Amino acid sequence: MLQRKFVGAHVSAAGGVENAPLNAHKLGASAFALFTKNQRQWNAKPLTEKNIQLFKERCEEFGFAPEQILPHDSYLINLGHPETEALEKSRNAFIDEIERCMQLGLDRLNFHPGSHLRTISEEECAEKVAESINLALDRTEGVIAVIENTAGQGSNMGWNFEQLAIMIDGVNDKSRVGVCIDTCHTFAAGYDLRTYEACEKTFAEFERLVGFQYLKGMHLNDSKGALGSRKDRHHSLGEGEIGWECFRYIMQDPRFNNVPMVLETIDETIWADEIQALYRLARK
Ligand SMILES: [Zn+2]
Ligand SMILES: [Zn+2]
Repeated sequence: MLQRKFVGAHVSAAGGVENAPLNAHKLGASAFALFTKNQRQWNAKPLTEKNIQLFKERCEEFGFAPEQILPHDSYLINLGHPETEALEKSRNAFIDEIERCMQLGLDRLNFHPGSHLRTISEEECAEKVAESINLALDRTEGVIAVIENTAGQGSNMGWNFEQLAIMIDGVNDKSRVGVCIDTCHTFAAGYDLRTYEACEKTFAEFERLVGFQYLKGMHLNDSKGALGSRKDRHHSLGEGEIGWECFRYIMQDPRFNNVPMVLETIDETIWADEIQALYRLARK
């Protein structure tokens, strides 16, 4: 059997979540990411029965199973917020996001762990994030909390594999926690991905500290920022500082099978081409 590589992009859900699978299908994708609500607002209208039904119908029609879909939560949420009231607001919003995933029949939710805002230590912040995940998992079911590694810009947590491991360690139900590895963030955080050898080393480090059993998604992005720049600036594949070798490595390695891998690259007019290029690398 062919390697099961699920590749797509973070597509628009403008006009309703049900448009996301349609947009992904038009790209020739076998995976997609979406926001289930406006990512820059706290409040959102609940999903309607019609939204939910159409979304499920189209996922079925175009062959998108839950393991091929990676919903992303709002950028406003900070599960490690140092202040009680703001933390509470984030926790409630996060639960709402998980509930939306449950309604849509989705099995995972991708989020950025949080920021310490320079007022608490990284350790304290990581503990708050884990506690936030525990609270949310207790009130919901069937959805895996997927922590994304960050570029470490500003006071963002989760840029090194050690921090991801600490957060996972603090989660009680290990069957409902995972990670999403963003190649741009990984590189900006200081892990080299430019050659086969560099990828071997970086992903061996990932395996040692976190473990591939927790890998529940990938963001495939090249990076405008240099190695270790701690800047979150995406680029089209092969156009940035990382280059194609990393994406060949990922497409050839079975440890990346069966998880949604989505582009968040800057030129959406070439997403269909980028997806085809990734499939060619998987076949070689
Ligand atoms: Zn990302
Ligand atoms: Zn990013």
